[in-house]
Amino acid sequence: FNIEQELNTFFEKKIPYYKQRYSGVGAPAAYIPELKNTNPDYLACALMFPDGQVILKGDYAVPFTLQSIAKVFIFMTACMHLGTSRVLEWVDVEPTGDPFNSILRFELNENKKPFNPMINAGAITVASLLPGTDSTEKIEKVKLLLSAILDKDVSINEKIFISEWETAYRNRALANFLMENHLLAADVEETLLTYTKLCSIEITAEDLAKIGLVLSIDGFDPIRRIEVIPSSIARFTKILMFTCGMYNYSGKFAAYVGIPGKSGVSGGILGTVPPSFRNHPILSDGCGIGIFSPAIDPCGNSVKGIKLLEDFLHSYSVQIF
Ligand code: GLU
Repeated sequence: FNIEQELNTFFEKKIPYYKQRYSGVGAPAAYIPELKNTNPDYLACALMFPDGQVILKGDYAVPFTLQSIAKVFIFMTACMHLGTSRVLEWVDVEPTGDPFNSILRFELNENKKPFNPMINAGAITVASLLPGTDSTEKIEKVKLLLSAILDKDVSINEKIFISEWETAYRNRALANFLMENHLLAADVEETLLTYTKLCSIEITAEDLAKIGLVLSIDGFDPIRRIEVIPSSIARFTKILMFTCGMYNYSGKFAAYVGIPGKSGVSGGILGTVPPSFRNHPILSDGCGIGIFSPAIDPCGNSVKGIKLLEDFLHSYSVQIF
């Protein structure tokens, strides 16, 4: 049984299928003007295994911005510097059925905290906690974590950043509301700058697969054999991804796709398969998954990306419970 050949065959068949089947369904996010210009038909999948094996399929060379996936690193960086319990004094860990950028209930729960760090209100609060005197220093801390995981430098896509910055009316309202409620530990505009720039960090599907692999082994990089994220923080983050990572589709994603995931409005999905499948022919040691396809659905998730991921996990009977 040749795993590589098996997976190559699977994705070489499925990627053209899903491109065609869901062509014209959903659209790239339009509220960030620059994202609108992306080709909606891109579809990429990257898998990375603990032995270093990598599968790259479809439009895997096309870079894209983290967008909401940045929330994962904002949270982990804050926890690494402040300790998880101090971060959780500011933000709760409760899923919400509201959209990611919801302002409907001003996104505070009964404890007067943002519901969780994976929605905008929560992530903006957590971004304000990052150590540093200004946005440049705060951003640097998060970039350091990403660089440690990826073993390379990461950079910000300035065009996309400026495009979002100039139109960030909703996030600006959320940040002001958070400040009014004593839920920002830093200046409103500096915090927004930190958050928005971090959303504009550019990565590839392969990068996401690497991140997913490291998360799957609780923060340990099996290739370099070093810990890059403290294990308790990596584990806690996977719980947040599983319960809150896919916007107001998180419950369905947990039920029908079934792994910790985090998506962004750029069409990226970070997935992590824990190493718990006894005797599973392919996935017993776990793996990291990176998906990219820019046309998103009304919840903010990649249309083709979710379908491909669901098909892959079901075809190979991946169930984490
Ligand atoms: N930068 C985006 C925003 O804050 C990220 C949203 C997302 O990907 O869900 O609106």
